[in-house]
Amino acid sequence: MVEQRAPASVSKPVRPMVNRDSAFFWDGTAVNELRVQVCNACEAVRFPPGPACPDCGAFDRGHVVATGRGTVFSYVVHRHPPVPGKELPIVIALIDLDEGVRMVGEVVDVADDEVEIGMPLRVSFNRVDDELTLPVWRRAE
Ligand SMILES: [Zn+2]
Repeated sequence: MVEQRAPASVSKPVRPMVNRDSAFFWDGTAVNELRVQVCNACEAVRFPPGPACPDCGAFDRGHVVATGRGTVFSYVVHRHPPVPGKELPIVIALIDLDEGVRMVGEVVDVADDEVEIGMPLRVSFNRVDDELTLPVWRRAE
């Protein structure tokens, strides 16, 4: 049987790759938790997730639920080319989490000329559909 594939739609967001190393992260966003991988051997937190601890080499991994607070380390305003499911411009930031890791994320509800390095942010969760909830970042009060 030939699998039928729908043509790529410009209105659908790009979906993340979910694999054995990142499933815990997406299971977390589904329940409005921002999860960060932690080494069960030495307690080092790390992002992006991976099979082995870069500090001690252990494979015994778990996760912590982040506070969801961070600050803008750096950012870009993306104006072109078009991004599926997005109305441009969008603000993409490198965010330093309170837990000590840095992750990339979309900043929403902040004008592209208002975002600045050091701006405090808090995570919120954008439920796209039953299988995908994306973390997004808003200005923290
Ligand atoms: Zn470790």
